[in-house]
Amino acid sequence: MYVKNVAGSDSLIPPQGYNSWLEFWKDHARVYLKKCSATDCDKDAEVGAHVQKAYSDDENYYIIPLCKICKRRNDVYEIPDYVTMVPSPNNL
Ligand SMILES: [Zn+2]
Repeated sequence: MYVKNVAGSDSLIPPQGYNSWLEFWKDHARVYLKKCSATDCDKDAEVGAHVQKAYSDDENYYIIPLCKICKRRNDVYEIPDYVTMVPSPNNL
């Protein structure tokens, strides 16, 4: 799956009961993923990031775990199919 980061998502506050978007992702994905989701990155996951599917009509926001560097990237990048894309409550 190819995805791109949602610009300006830093202002989106996690839902009540969650201290971070990474915590929200872990709770909904029901799996533990230690590594950043980007296939071309070896760093540990540090944040839950808002992304959209690239090359897709689906404009909804999804949360995936990323490192802080990948959270800042603005290119299209690939994530493995086993990464659960948790629908964000901040969808358009
Ligand atoms: Zn990364």
